[in-house]
Amino acid sequence: MPRRCSVEQCHILKNKIKCTLFKAPKEVNILTAWNEAVSKANGKSSIAHYVCQNHFSAADLISVNNNYPGDLNVC
Ligand SMILES: [Zn+2]
Repeated sequence: MPRRCSVEQCHILKNKIKCTLFKAPKEVNILTAWNEAVSKANGKSSIAHYVCQNHFSAADLISVNNNYPGDLNVC
């Protein structure tokens, strides 16, 4: 499976712009949400393998940082 965004109309994909790809999560609940979001974007039933950063809001990305220890200094 080539590493590419699962959103077919992704302009990052079309323009071959380098951007961060996020692998689909293993947690079933979250994975289902990813599949639904990608299916909606593609207009047909689709499986999310990778989704690029283009489709996440800043708030979505920041929430990932909650996995870090609270006292970690980010420089
Ligand atoms: Zn994309």
